[in-house]
Amino acid sequence: MALRHPAPASSLDASFLSRIASLKLHDLRLSLRPLPFTASFCLPHRVPQGSSSSPSQPSQERLVVAADALDLDASAIKRAVLTTGEVTIFNTIESFKELDKKQFLHNIATEMCRQIDSGEVEENPSLLVRCDVIVFSDLKDYKHYYWFAFPALCFPDPPTLSDSILSMEDVMSSDMIHQLHIGYNGLLESSGNGIPPFFIVVEDKDANTVSVKPLSHYPACAQSGKQVLFGFVDHSPLQSNPGWPLRNLLYFLNRRWSLSDVTVLCYRDFSENMQRESQAEWHSRQGRRADSDRVKETLSWELNQKGKLGPRCADLAPFMDPKRRAIESADLNLKLMRWRFLPNLDTESLSHKRCLLLGAGTLGCNVARSLTSWGFRKITFVDYGKVSYSNPTRQWLFEFEDCLSLSRSDVSLQAAADRLSRIVPNMEAEGFELSIPMPGHPVAEELQGKVLADVAKLADLIQHADLIFLLTDTRESRWLPTLLCACKSKPCINVALGFDTFVVMRHGVPDPANATDPQQIPSCNLGCYFCNDVVAPMNSTRNRTLDQQCTATRPGLSPIASSIAVEIAVSLLHHPKGCLAQADTEEEQEGTDLGILPHQIRGFLSSFSNVVVQGRPFKHCTACSAVILNQYATRGNEFLLRAFNEPNFLEEASGLTDMLREGEALMEDWEDDEVEELEP
Ligand SMILES: [Zn+2]
Repeated sequence: MALRHPAPASSLDASFLSRIASLKLHDLRLSLRPLPFTASFCLPHRVPQGSSSSPSQPSQERLVVAADALDLDASAIKRAVLTTGEVTIFNTIESFKELDKKQFLHNIATEMCRQIDSGEVEENPSLLVRCDVIVFSDLKDYKHYYWFAFPALCFPDPPTLSDSILSMEDVMSSDMIHQLHIGYNGLLESSGNGIPPFFIVVEDKDANTVSVKPLSHYPACAQSGKQVLFGFVDHSPLQSNPGWPLRNLLYFLNRRWSLSDVTVLCYRDFSENMQRESQAEWHSRQGRRADSDRVKETLSWELNQKGKLGPRCADLAPFMDPKRRAIESADLNLKLMRWRFLPNLDTESLSHKRCLLLGAGTLGCNVARSLTSWGFRKITFVDYGKVSYSNPTRQWLFEFEDCLSLSRSDVSLQAAADRLSRIVPNMEAEGFELSIPMPGHPVAEELQGKVLADVAKLADLIQHADLIFLLTDTRESRWLPTLLCACKSKPCINVALGFDTFVVMRHGVPDPANATDPQQIPSCNLGCYFCNDVVAPMNSTRNRTLDQQCTATRPGLSPIASSIAVEIAVSLLHHPKGCLAQADTEEEQEGTDLGILPHQIRGFLSSFSNVVVQGRPFKHCTACSAVILNQYATRGNEFLLRAFNEPNFLEEASGLTDMLREGEALMEDWEDDEVEELEP
């Protein structure tokens, strides 16, 4: 009778497939590097001889692939036969289908032959119990195609049984069978990883003794002249049919030790229900030693659900929580950018960065949109205005209904935050109603407490943010956040719009390289929004016509400028020096994988052109100069109140007044000199 073995059937945990998909997306990307995994054979429900199998009683060995199969601690598993192999994850369904299956198995068989020849199998017999799986995961639709292969090393002519299967009771006394169990248990205790799949049984009929030893002891035992049986832990559920690993054992015995006529003990251990069977004695005859050119890998691919030779498909989409699916899908395109274009893109880090948007108007809405696309998930709005009828067309977080119902600014901010969460379920968005105190807007005595509370709240929000966007609609409202961000060395991205021009810039922060006095805050590495000005910010809302008040701009300008602001922020976060990075220009660049990290971009929609500009920090800047930062650091609120209340305070405090006075004096001197020289 020829030896026949159906390939085992796989039973895998859906989490294993999810883990594979995650590894493909995050770590492997386009790599086809196979990953090692470990699975185990489950104990079968025995099908009695002669009866047909039913669905509840599988007729095949069942391979269990657990959720943690990729990082299973094999040494922790004692009561199962383990199988190891590799999972190869393909990049396209076509390459998965077109894989040369024959060559694939041949490569594995060649490797197994090498392990037999090198003696590795004797030391680790589980190398003969190997399975491999090929996978294609459709990451978008959560469909996984997989196909298990159980490589079998075969002779050109299959081994045959020399006799019918014998029960152990027929060939051993009950005392010897008892010794066999004890010996096997001893082997189990001393084994490191799972149940040893193969072993030898040394029988001394004269002394009526039986001992169980590791496979590697065979050559020594054979020399002693004792009878040796080859033991094999049989998980086959069929009484009449031994399991699939027997085939590889027979090949091994022939190739390694030139054995062509062996007696095999199929050890069937059912300790879970206290029933132990150890029966079936097999003989296998093989004419000659198998050499490498006589190995023939049989087609041992698993059958699919239809009972045909083909891959199985697991569609996990129906089991996905829709919210989780939305969250994962939202990140998919970003993570795919890491496959080819930006391997070092840190999407995980972006999702944890806390973004503070000062201004929830047109710019705030557009910046929030871009941040969401980039995978930022922590967004805080600060504003004080309410939604007006003109807003929804440009401010996409608001709708017409909001103009009717949202008469209070705190409610409108919450609406904006809620809408963001409706787009991506894992968005953490919140809004704070806060009026940013401004220079040139004097604080009445009775309002001083509230204004200082607003200052404290703003300082606290900036302190806890990782990225600040300055998106307010007046120049003077940007002064206090600029000062606070510089003081706290926080990255601040400023966006300002004209009618058809914009400026997007990242503000500098105090640079330790500029430190001269350890007690003093040093000057910044780059300029801020106010560094180009020779006048302090003042109340710009007086005497303005409606078109000036509403910042009439070309509608495309805000989305363009907002997108550039977020792109600069992402580049900044990926730069090793962060906010201390010097400004790259097209000629001089350090940059990141994303390209250059500029200081500022000035855009001109009338000519559809952008210019990359670098602005030096100005030592008399009214917002970020060291002299201003140090005065604020020592005098705190008293300094701020004077800045809000006294018209020329900042110009004097920053040294701007003196500088202008000196400049005028120089001009006068120069003019006097000119006049003198002209005199005859
Ligand atoms: Zn400045």
